[in-house]
Amino acid sequence: MTSKSAAAAARATVYGYPRQGPDRELKKAIEGYWKGRTDADALRATAADLRRSNWRQLAGAGIHEVPTGDFSYYDHVLDTTVMVGAIPARHRAAVDADALDGYFAMARGTQDLAPLEMTKWFDTNYHYLVPELGPDTVFAADSGKQVAELKEALALGLTARPVLVGPVTYLLLAKPAPGVAAGFEPLTLLDRLLPVYAEVLADLRAAGAEWVQLDEPALVQDRTPAELNAAERAYRDLGALPDRPKLLVASYFDRLGEALPVLAKAPVEGLALDFTESAAANLDALAAVGGLPGKRLVAGVVNGRNIWVNDLAKSLSTLGTLLGLADRVDVAASCSLLHVPLDAAAERDIQPQILRWLAFAKQKTAEIVALAKGLAQGTDTIAAVLSANRADLASRENSPITRDPAVRARTAAITDADGRRSQPYTERTTAQRAHLGLPLLPTTTIGSFPQTGELRTARADLRTGRIDRAGYEERIRAEIQEVVSFQEKAGIDVLVHGEPERNDMVQYFAEQLTGYIATQHGWVQSYGTRYVRPPILAGDISRPEPMTVRWTTYAQSLTGRPVKGMLTGPVTMLAWSFVRDDQPLGDTARQVALALRDEVDDLEAAGTSVIQVDEPALRETLPLRAADRPDYLAWATESFRLTTAGVRPETQIHTHMCYAEFGDIVQAIDDLDADVISLEAARSHMQVACELAAHGYPREAGPGVYDIHSPRVPSAAEAADLLRTGLKAIPAERLWVNPDCGLKTRAWPETRASLENLVSAARTVREELPAS
Ligand code: GLN
Ligand code: ZN
Repeated sequence: MTSKSAAAAARATVYGYPRQGPDRELKKAIEGYWKGRTDADALRATAADLRRSNWRQLAGAGIHEVPTGDFSYYDHVLDTTVMVGAIPARHRAAVDADALDGYFAMARGTQDLAPLEMTKWFDTNYHYLVPELGPDTVFAADSGKQVAELKEALALGLTARPVLVGPVTYLLLAKPAPGVAAGFEPLTLLDRLLPVYAEVLADLRAAGAEWVQLDEPALVQDRTPAELNAAERAYRDLGALPDRPKLLVASYFDRLGEALPVLAKAPVEGLALDFTESAAANLDALAAVGGLPGKRLVAGVVNGRNIWVNDLAKSLSTLGTLLGLADRVDVAASCSLLHVPLDAAAERDIQPQILRWLAFAKQKTAEIVALAKGLAQGTDTIAAVLSANRADLASRENSPITRDPAVRARTAAITDADGRRSQPYTERTTAQRAHLGLPLLPTTTIGSFPQTGELRTARADLRTGRIDRAGYEERIRAEIQEVVSFQEKAGIDVLVHGEPERNDMVQYFAEQLTGYIATQHGWVQSYGTRYVRPPILAGDISRPEPMTVRWTTYAQSLTGRPVKGMLTGPVTMLAWSFVRDDQPLGDTARQVALALRDEVDDLEAAGTSVIQVDEPALRETLPLRAADRPDYLAWATESFRLTTAGVRPETQIHTHMCYAEFGDIVQAIDDLDADVISLEAARSHMQVACELAAHGYPREAGPGVYDIHSPRVPSAAEAADLLRTGLKAIPAERLWVNPDCGLKTRAWPETRASLENLVSAARTVREELPAS
């Protein structure tokens, strides 16, 4: 096919769409079902309505081929687990008794049965349920959901393409089932899994699918030759099936790299590739393999996971280049639109001047359609769209929100010295000891105390005007009093104010920083029925006034013990927001860091001797490709140091991360140059302490001794045992005693009991220490 006819054939498509509905109807229906307020038929009807309305909307907007099967009651990886029959043995009976209830049991657990583990979907903030596989896993095809949803879309008279998680990615996302040796590699099950995919593909073909999309985002990560070989085998075998639909193998979130030649040679009819900024290398790589002669290329030129308007002219130029490289070029978002909110037009509080810079799922759909039209029928046919787009982009580029000269001057003047504390750790730790006068094995918490119903009600009342600000603040002060007095009575050494004023650890700061904007309806699925509204880093960041100082100093005024100031670090502020796409992430991080640095300095000036800067997102933000990690870790650690390095030697900087696997970032953790780190460790029986020690981590550390993810109260004896284990790895002079993470999701009774036991454990173990 000539590039001209490739252009003429250009079609618009997407891989998936937000599931929740304009008013989060799906969340409400599912939660209603869980509470017994809605029956299964009503839930199914709501779900079917939402699917139909999404398809109609997509088709109405001009999308030529709509996705099916992207809908989910909870998670599309869990749907895949059902599709391949990999139901964990412990849930089998529940699934057999009732498919829907069994499905939710796998997702959420029951009184007696643990759910599947949940983890982040690549480097997004969406969480999937991890398949549990073992050498005894028997797969069995269940194409019911996929076939039914395809038929629904076809019944509307639409061209529809089922979207499935591909077999290689499915296995690479899995982990050994409980009881299976940790060394077991799920990928060894590929030969058993492929016949199941073959059956599903045949069923979909029979139901009328011309094309089926198989998503293989795991292939954008670094892959071993054995894994690449598995991908080659998988698509050779699936490609060789006699009665199958055409196959579109999709990749997203990064470049395909060494997997590109593998897929380019595979006997499948199409590939979908990400061509947004971070995956731009796909373009040259595609040319280098000689393009995709005879194949369909779906070009993800519209960023599916960020919220900025597309640069249509730039996308058209990319598409123009691609025309020479494939038989047919279609236009799409880089990934499923699941990762962006539904409709920017629903926002009432965002200034119109900023709103025009934003594209949520609905707006992205329109961009994709316009690009496909421009490609197929010539750019003059979309001249008006292009000129409006140019104006939107120019308005953003030239806005004083985008570029604040004062912020720019300040970041330009940053020197190495700004990111270096005035004394090295070994020296300042002596000053901190003298200044704080803490016992060995000092006790503390991670920051938040229970966010009670009353606190949430008070915040809602403030929003609706039922109480005024003074009344609200009164309520917060009362809470702080209670938190401080409890900690004093319990005998905790370094106190916190409890964070009662914070709705969320990122949003609370975003709301107070200039350059950040909040959305009213910008819900994005985090997991299951949990949706979040990430704030948007829209422009240059500055801090008009102190954000936390008065709450911390209020708490400090109530006690003679040190109260720890609590801030969210720059990396986490970026990770849980929509980031700017018009400057390197490191530049945005530096701006946020300087704003936070002012807060740190103000806290210190107000008499705070211990300041904690939380970075729970440091590890999850790690780029998918190892080659991209040094650069990320450089700006991540630099921005943390910029935030914290301005304090006096005797001021103690803490950081906190809530996970136990950090082997690949332990050097970066050390490079933060914090004085104390608290980490999750209770479930892994202090294994982190050993790992830190093995890496020669020289600083103070508080591996958690209280698992806050469960309402269970750890006994003092149990916490003491964990401490004794910790002491084998970390000497008493450097070991802290604290819970795994914040207590905001816990209730007061278990929090009280657990913290009292924690203090009692610290006292017991202190007594056992040899007198120095
Ligand atoms: N300081 C926060 C809290 O205690 C930290 C939360 C987190 O690590 N995710 O809630
Ligand atoms: Zn945490």
